[in-house]
Amino acid sequence: MKLFLASGNRHKAEEFQALARASALPLEVVSAAVVGGMPPVEEDTGTFVGNARKKAQALRARLPADAWVLADDSGVCVDALDGAPGVESAYYAGPQGDSAANLAKLAAVMRDVPAANRGAHFFCVLLVLGPGGEEQIFEGICRGHLGREPRGGAGFGYDPLFVPDGYTRTYAELSEAEKNQLSHRGRAWARLAEWRKSGSKA
Ligand code: IMP
Repeated sequence: MKLFLASGNRHKAEEFQALARASALPLEVVSAAVVGGMPPVEEDTGTFVGNARKKAQALRARLPADAWVLADDSGVCVDALDGAPGVESAYYAGPQGDSAANLAKLAAVMRDVPAANRGAHFFCVLLVLGPGGEEQIFEGICRGHLGREPRGGAGFGYDPLFVPDGYTRTYAELSEAEKNQLSHRGRAWARLAEWRKSGSKA
């Protein structure tokens, strides 16, 4: 089964392609680049599911009628900030969606917050949109806390600030395979893989 990925984020595409390979299922994640790229989408629904649905529908308009689309929406939710930046994670430092500026802003906002209040989680929604408009939705969550200074050179976005529970290294200090084992995206993917394994028609 081919899933066309409704994202222009190269890092996400690489993570999904690695997840698909590791799942040993006949699943292939195809970059939106093969159909001219991901069309621009305003992520303005206020919910992870709503934004994922908008992305999926935008890409579907560029695909053959029998194509399946995979969209995701994700973000980091910080306890001390009442869940912010959450669904606004991509635009935390402004509408230009500058991930270095987003990371710097979160590090600065959290600088003086004591260790006990630095809890956070990453959240991911995966939405599979089928040819007839049918939807499957899968969620994944990864709990952890925010470090004080960004650390590590791998990954993307807020990775250098996020330390998953049970680890002392940030997401950005893990290998791709380690991150995929425990990440919000990896956990949502595991549910998608279960759905496929259970023989659901697609
Ligand atoms: P989306 O691409 O609209 O889902 O935006 C999600 C935003 O959340 C990204 O721009 C990143 O800032 C952040 N994000 C989501 N997943 C991750 C991750 O695995 N690591 C770091 N940042 C992430």
